[in-house]
Amino acid sequence: MSSPHSPRPYRVAVIGSGPSGLYTAEALLEGDPGVHVDVVDRLPAPYGLVRYGVAPDHLKMKSVVRALVATFDDPERVRFLGNVHVGEGGIPHEALREHYHAVVHATGSTHDRSLGIPGEDLAGSVGSGAFVSWYCGHPDATGAGPALDRPGAVVVGAGNVALDVARMLARPAEDLAATDLHDAVLDRFRDSAVERVDVLIRRGPQHARFTPAELRGLGRLDDVEVRVHDDGVLAAGVEEPAERRMRQVVDTLTEWSAHPPGAGGRRRIDLRFLRSPVRLLGEGGRVRGVEVERNEIGPDGRVRGTGETEVIDAGLVVRAIGYTGEPIDGLPFDRSTGTVPHEAGRVLLGGEPVRGNYVTGWIKRGPTGVIGTNKVDGAETAASVLADLPRLGTPPRPGGDAVLARLREYGIDPVLWDDWQRLDAAEIALGERRGGTERVKIAERAAMLDAARGRTNATP
Ligand code: NAP
Repeated sequence: MSSPHSPRPYRVAVIGSGPSGLYTAEALLEGDPGVHVDVVDRLPAPYGLVRYGVAPDHLKMKSVVRALVATFDDPERVRFLGNVHVGEGGIPHEALREHYHAVVHATGSTHDRSLGIPGEDLAGSVGSGAFVSWYCGHPDATGAGPALDRPGAVVVGAGNVALDVARMLARPAEDLAATDLHDAVLDRFRDSAVERVDVLIRRGPQHARFTPAELRGLGRLDDVEVRVHDDGVLAAGVEEPAERRMRQVVDTLTEWSAHPPGAGGRRRIDLRFLRSPVRLLGEGGRVRGVEVERNEIGPDGRVRGTGETEVIDAGLVVRAIGYTGEPIDGLPFDRSTGTVPHEAGRVLLGGEPVRGNYVTGWIKRGPTGVIGTNKVDGAETAASVLADLPRLGTPPRPGGDAVLARLREYGIDPVLWDDWQRLDAAEIALGERRGGTERVKIAERAAMLDAARGRTNATP
């Protein structure tokens, strides 16, 4: 691919093949024909959050893959190196770094935040990251999975992830068969005993973080009633939010508080505003309910607890209260935001750029924004990389096949683009077998690798 002594082609590794990594790779490739990119991912499949975060029933959003795939159009200049863990237990960062002029970290925000309340460690209490990973068939989440054997489930949070989780729990399983859900997950939803999903939102309707389209999606579910509990805040009239998006949310909630969509449906989603969980109650080590405090909006406009509590029965509690990033070996990390300090994507230590290291996506800006936000973000980071490349010096080791040989030294057999395409084809074949869906995910890592290597007729 390149000689170790010539500055060009410039070699860049992008670690993470989710939308942030791929938009950055695309901007790098478009920005300079002399740039070659290796997109590295610890999983055998590309697309990160599109594959493992976007809800399976959001087919339109998942179709962004059709645009992301184009990043790999020019095999002379871009490679996929899947199944490559960078860091402890895999190839150390500094070893990989030796082969590249620059490394862009696009590793996202992978950890669930916690509420810090008693009972959070009980079985049946999970973070949204773990719950979403399970239903998206993430290879690290193929264990027993959450039990859906009680009528009550509670979701904490007022973001789009909270709505995704509530919708997936309430949606009729027949609808889910038309998605890429792994068979074992689909069976769990088919057998689900969940009848009520209570969404606990600590502030008022005017403060919700979800977007209007996501909210309205709840109102279109078959056989699901959506009730709004707002302690009369909407009827009393809230100050009109400045943002159009928020005005639409308030309008929809106002309409629903008078006319609940899906009235009489078999399942129910209760949007409970001004409610905070204060304790999870257990029985035999498993969640059986949530003690909830009523909040009110004070004269200063701030939300405060009233001390008044009630208990909601629930066998499952999903906290969807945001994510935080994981520190990257050898790089600075801001624990308060869960991000790597940077300026326009250049990693900063004590205000100075850390030579050849860049960030993009959620590890750069925190877990906010929609998929498209990463395009602008990736363009900014790519511009910084492209501006710096001429003065980053020649890497001590070559790229191309030398990288593959180096990975093998660490016992890593990467999944290349052709391998991924075999795995992709195997999933599409499983979709044809189920019928009515584009693909069925293969979730177990070993089965993914078998399919990628063409070793077996993979099963999900
Ligand atoms: P988010 O939008 O930041 O929402 C987090 C929610 O958790 C907020 O409502 C927050 O309430 C609440 N919260 C935080 N700490 C809490 C606590 N201790 N107790 C109770 N509630 C607490 O995060 P997200 O839902 O994880 O979404 C992450 C990003 O992905 C967002 O930008 C989202 O729009 C995006 N996303 C988009 C889609 C889509 O477009 N379909 C789907 C999924 C995710 P406060 O506001 O009171 O702090």
